[in-house]
Amino acid sequence: MTPIVNERLNDEKSEHKEDVMVQILQLDVRGMPQEWITPEDAATYYATDSVAWTVGSVIHTLHGGTNAVTGLQSRIDVHAIVATTGASRVNLFDAVPSLSNPKLFKRDRMTCAYCGGYFDDRQLTREHIVPTAQGGIDDWLNVVAACKACNGRKACRTPKQARMTLLFAPYAPSVFEGFLLAGRNIRGDVHDWLASRVGSHSRWSHQSTRVSQHKYLQ
Ligand SMILES: [Zn+2]
Repeated sequence: MTPIVNERLNDEKSEHKEDVMVQILQLDVRGMPQEWITPEDAATYYATDSVAWTVGSVIHTLHGGTNAVTGLQSRIDVHAIVATTGASRVNLFDAVPSLSNPKLFKRDRMTCAYCGGYFDDRQLTREHIVPTAQGGIDDWLNVVAACKACNGRKACRTPKQARMTLLFAPYAPSVFEGFLLAGRNIRGDVHDWLASRVGSHSRWSHQSTRVSQHKYLQ
């Protein structure tokens, strides 16, 4: 092949050294996020002509065999965001992202909802605002990130009973935010695409949460 291709390959190698796990955001044809997929999964969609449209730059190139007729090596350029045809797995109106500690801590920006301290995920806990022992459910709207000390101090009490104030309110992330919370090493352009679609209540949007209006603080 031409030197241009070799140069390109070298570029890719150096680019991917830092970002080992390249994630492609797969959308349905309407733009609803479906899944984080690997470049190889994405290539399958390209190869089967199932890519409806793409967003962002080419972030990965896969090389296949040499075409017997043309003598050229086949290559598939994979974009950062790929919208595919076919059935949707995630629907805008019925999908609430599943609750997990990593996503919860990320939603709350690694910040304890009571003392406001910044912690890593080993020091944070899933704090039930209304304790499960008092009928609180394990749901996005009843949980916040809290450091171990604050969680221990609050114990099986509501914030009011414990005389502890929430510094910010919980909320259920949208589908778009769920993907933002679940992704790893999200590229800047993909992050921006998702962040521009989260609701105004989100801590990932520019508008801040209005804590004073939250029901748990009444
Ligand atoms: Zn704390």
